[in-house]
Amino acid sequence: MQGEKHIQIAIIGGGASGTLTAINLLRKLNREAKVYLIEKHEGALFRGAAYSSQLSYEPLNVHAGKMSAFAHLPDSFYQWIIDNRSTTINRESFVSRRWYGDYLTELYQKYKAQNKLVKAKTVIDTVTSVCRDEASGLYTIKFEGRDALTADYVVFATGNEPPQDIFTAEQISAMGTHYVSLPWFTDPLKGIKPTDNVLIVGTGLTMVDHVVSLYKQGHQGKVYCFSRNGYLPLPHNDTSNYTFDVSFDGKGAREVFFELRRAFRNAAAKGITWQSVIDGLRIRTARIWRNLPTAERKLFLRNFKNYWEIHRHRMPQASANVLEQMQNEGKLELHNGKYNKVEVNGDAVTFYYTDKATGEQCNFNTNLIINCTGPSGDYMQCSNGMMKDAIAKGWMKQDELKIGIETGIRGEIMMSNGIVLKNCYAVGPLRKASEWESTAMREIRTQADETAQYIADKVATIHDVLVDI
Ligand SMILES: Cc1cc2nc3c(=O)[nH]c(=O)nc-3n(C[C@H](O)[C@H](O)[C@H](O)COP(=O)(O)OP(=O)(O)OC[C@H]3O[C@@H](n4cnc5c(N)ncnc54)[C@H](O)[C@@H]3O)c2cc1C
Repeated sequence: MQGEKHIQIAIIGGGASGTLTAINLLRKLNREAKVYLIEKHEGALFRGAAYSSQLSYEPLNVHAGKMSAFAHLPDSFYQWIIDNRSTTINRESFVSRRWYGDYLTELYQKYKAQNKLVKAKTVIDTVTSVCRDEASGLYTIKFEGRDALTADYVVFATGNEPPQDIFTAEQISAMGTHYVSLPWFTDPLKGIKPTDNVLIVGTGLTMVDHVVSLYKQGHQGKVYCFSRNGYLPLPHNDTSNYTFDVSFDGKGAREVFFELRRAFRNAAAKGITWQSVIDGLRIRTARIWRNLPTAERKLFLRNFKNYWEIHRHRMPQASANVLEQMQNEGKLELHNGKYNKVEVNGDAVTFYYTDKATGEQCNFNTNLIINCTGPSGDYMQCSNGMMKDAIAKGWMKQDELKIGIETGIRGEIMMSNGIVLKNCYAVGPLRKASEWESTAMREIRTQADETAQYIADKVATIHDVLVDI
C-alpha cells in the first residue's frame, strides 16, 4: 500500500458561494482531505458582501421560503428561522440578510463537526496570486501575509467585485470623508448628522436599502438618488409556479425580448403576474444566454439590460411603499442624466449633471455621496490583484463584454488559449459571462453542489489508486 496523500482543496472567497462549496464538500467527501476556505475580510467569512450588511434595514431581496442553501431541502432556511429566531414569519417573508449569514455559518460548523475524515480550515488573508505547476499539477496559492499553500483543486468564489467609481482619483481625494466608494461591509450611514443631505449614485437594490435605512433612522435631510436612466427595481408580487410554452432557441435578443412581452400579456390574460413569468423563465435563462451570439449579447446589454434588471431584481413591497412615501413628502428626489463634475465647498459637495429629459445643467448640494452603482465585472479595472494577475498570465480569460470570466459547462476556469484549467472551478458571479443568471442563491446553491460533487468524485478515484496499488 502506497503512503496516503492528503488531497488539498482551496476555496478562494469565503462569501456565500465559497461557504456553500465548502459545506457541500463536507457533505460529500468520504476520503481524507483538507479543505481551506480563504477570505480576506474577517467580517465577511461565511457571509460575503451580501450577508454581512451593517445597515439598519437589510432585508433579503428574495422570500425566505426560496433561500434554502440546498435545492433538495427547499425549507431548510425557513425551518432554521422557525427554530432559531423568535418571530412570526411565513415563506413569503423578507427576513434579515445577517440572519442568512448566521444560517450559513451554522451549516458550515455543523457539517465540519460531522465529517471526521476532512480537516476544514478557514484562512483570513488576501490571495495575491494562484499558479499551477505543469509537472505536478499542483496549484500554489500566494498570500499577502502568510506562507503560500499548495492545493490539488482550486475553487474561485471571489464573487462581486466592488462597484466602479464615476469620479476621478483627484475628485475622490478632494471629497475625503464625504464620499463612500464601497457600500458593503460597513454602515456608511453611521455617524451622519440627521440633517445632512445624502446622494446615492445608482438606483438598484443597494440604493433601496440605504434609503429605507435613512427613513427608519428618522433622517431629516434630503435624500437624492442619481442614475443615468432613472430605472427603479419593481416590487415583488404574488408568484405562482408558472410554465409557458415558448421556444427561445435560435432567437436574437430583440426576439427574446418580444417573446417575453408576449408571455407577460398571455399570463396577465389568465390572471397570472409578470413576476411569475420572470421566475418561470429562470430555469431557461442560462440556455438562452449561451445560445446568443456575442453581437446579440451586446445588443441585449445595450438595449434591454435595464428593463430585464428591474423586472428580475425586485424589491420587497414594503420598501417600495417607503420610497413612494418619501417622494410624496418631498424627502426623496430621483434624478437621472449624465454626471459632469463635483466641487467641494467646505462641509458640502456640489454635484453637477445634465438632466436626461430636459438637457439642462443641474446641480444639488450634498454632505455625503454613496456609490451604489452595483458590482463590477471588469476584472482588469477592479482592485483584486489576484484576478488581474491570473488574467494577465493567461490562467483566466476576461470575457469580451466585461461581465465575468470565461468558464466551461461545469464552471471550469478557461485559460486565454481556450483550454480549461484542470481541477480548477468557478462558483457564483464569476460565471455570469457564460451563464448570465449566476449571482443569486438559487443558481449558486446548484453550482456549489455540483462543483463539490465533481471534486468528491475525482478525489474518490485518485485516492483508490493511491491506496490500492
Ligand atoms: C448587497 C447585496 C444583497 C444581495 N441580496 C441577495 C438576496 O437577498 N438573495 C439572493 O439570492 N442574492 C442576493 N445577492 C446576490 C449575491 O451575489 C449572492 O447571493 C451571493 O451572496 C454571492 O456570494 P459570493 O460568495 O459569490 O460573492 P461575495 O459575497 O462577493 O463573496 C466573495 C468573497 O470573496 C472574497 N475575496 C475576493 N477576492 C479575494 C482574494 N483575492 N483573497 C481572499 N478573499 C477574496 C471577498 O472578500 C468576498 O467576501 C445580494 C448581493 C448583494 C451585493
